[in-house]
Amino acid sequence: MTKYIIITGGVVSSIGKGITSASIGRILRDYDLKVGAVKIDPYLNWDSGTLNPYQHGEVFVTYDGMETDLDLGHYERFLDVELPGISNITTGKVYKSVIEKERNGDFLGDCVQIIPHITDEVKRMIRKISGNYDIVLVELGGTVGDIESQPFLEALRQLRNEEGHDKVFFVHVTYVPYLKAAGEFKTKPTQHSTKELRSTGINPDMIVCRSEKKIDENIKAKIAHFCDVPFDAVINTYDVSSIYEVPLLMDKENVGSYVRTKLKLNLDEDSSRLDNWRNMVESLKKEDPIVKVGVIGKYTKLEDAYISIKEALLHAAGENKVKVEVKFINSDVNSIDKKILDELDGILIPGGFGERGLGGKLEAVDYAIENNVPIFGICLGLHSMVIQFARRNGMKDANSSEFDDNLKYPVIDMMEEQKKVKKMGGSMRLGSYDCKLVKNTLAHDIYKQSLIKERHRHRFEVNNEFKEQLIKDGLILSGFSLDEFLVEIIEIKDHPWFLGCQFHPEFKSRPSNAHPLFVSFIKATVNYSHEIDNNQRNIIQK
Ligand code: GLN
Repeated sequence: MTKYIIITGGVVSSIGKGITSASIGRILRDYDLKVGAVKIDPYLNWDSGTLNPYQHGEVFVTYDGMETDLDLGHYERFLDVELPGISNITTGKVYKSVIEKERNGDFLGDCVQIIPHITDEVKRMIRKISGNYDIVLVELGGTVGDIESQPFLEALRQLRNEEGHDKVFFVHVTYVPYLKAAGEFKTKPTQHSTKELRSTGINPDMIVCRSEKKIDENIKAKIAHFCDVPFDAVINTYDVSSIYEVPLLMDKENVGSYVRTKLKLNLDEDSSRLDNWRNMVESLKKEDPIVKVGVIGKYTKLEDAYISIKEALLHAAGENKVKVEVKFINSDVNSIDKKILDELDGILIPGGFGERGLGGKLEAVDYAIENNVPIFGICLGLHSMVIQFARRNGMKDANSSEFDDNLKYPVIDMMEEQKKVKKMGGSMRLGSYDCKLVKNTLAHDIYKQSLIKERHRHRFEVNNEFKEQLIKDGLILSGFSLDEFLVEIIEIKDHPWFLGCQFHPEFKSRPSNAHPLFVSFIKATVNYSHEIDNNQRNIIQK
């Protein structure tokens, strides 16, 4: 029988509800429970696909091809699972489904209303994913009090009534600010937001207080008193250097045993619980030697826009026993300052859409070829590599038809099937696809197998019309779709590490199981670095 842990937020947004929730999940996973997650986004968009990364950060893609909120990425990384697309519920999805049912005549005679029709649909969507799990974490985006959250809070309240109080556990995550002038932490915002939550009929079972520094016991006692929860149910997660430390911090506060008791989970306490996680956190804490990787993109002002890439680089650095310094470099400039590129040990060109910033990416590819700098291209990154390679080999003004539909050398083009889809949302090759690797290539050496599965999110592909010419010029095609029609991975000859992939490997990287492409790329940056001497290199690569 599935039990639910529901996470709401108060006071301010962006306090790390997702990390808090994923950390609770990690703790429970170490009790050998099957843990799944649902993220509710109360906006009207059907999915995250058409959202600008500056609004909600990266669009995370599930194996079954749903474009979702980035929190699903945290869940996959913390829980080490692959979540289905139905794990992301939006207001748009709920209303679309209810209206479709209404048109279908399912509610014939009824006046269709928020209560019960919308709230029933929300509960149905949550229960739909519960079957496979012992515990489902349900994180409600936004903060309590938002107009958009109201129907969801009502549905979650009903869920507790229907399932029972020992099956549904509410966690409220708040922020406890420190007022320098007064020299103390302030609990009032937490009191207010808990009151707001209670006005919806939900009494939290646990309050997680986010703060910059550790809060005192008397502050916890005050929160327990005013918010009507036991002292043991007030948990403090103060800022730590790595998000992966949060499960350890919460475990120290006995979150696991509290939740176990309240949800009546009969589980054995194992003293080695979280040991692997602890070791992984230690390996990520390495301070030296440092390699510098430049991520060349146009959303560099918000790191969340490339969060899975950044995490994958950190995981791979841990595996290589080095620290990676990730520098986000804006490609939307007339020309990237060469001094910036000179400082790098590796270049990564992430996925992206639209022509803005392409110039900087092509420059970076050129620089990497000229200077033998390791370079990793992902999706639009691969497109940039192919375009620049073609231009260097006599195909003047080669480009992608994404940016110009009147080209002499459209080396990147849209496949016929894709051309028929006119709507913006959902018109892409999305989700996991098989890819065959060609023996004796860098890709095959890295994966050490001939068949892999990776996640996609794009409309454009390498144009088969130019394949032969590009191969003649020295491009290596090292990965293909099963029918060998689509190019999935490219490399070039005589370069220490030059690889572009049409898919997004970053979505499959885990802190305790770094992605092989990223591991190999970071290894190449270690070999390239002029600041790491051979002695050091030998020690870390032993
Ligand atoms: N804009 C390109 C396409 O649609 C690349 C997409 C991406 O990088 N994810 O094919």
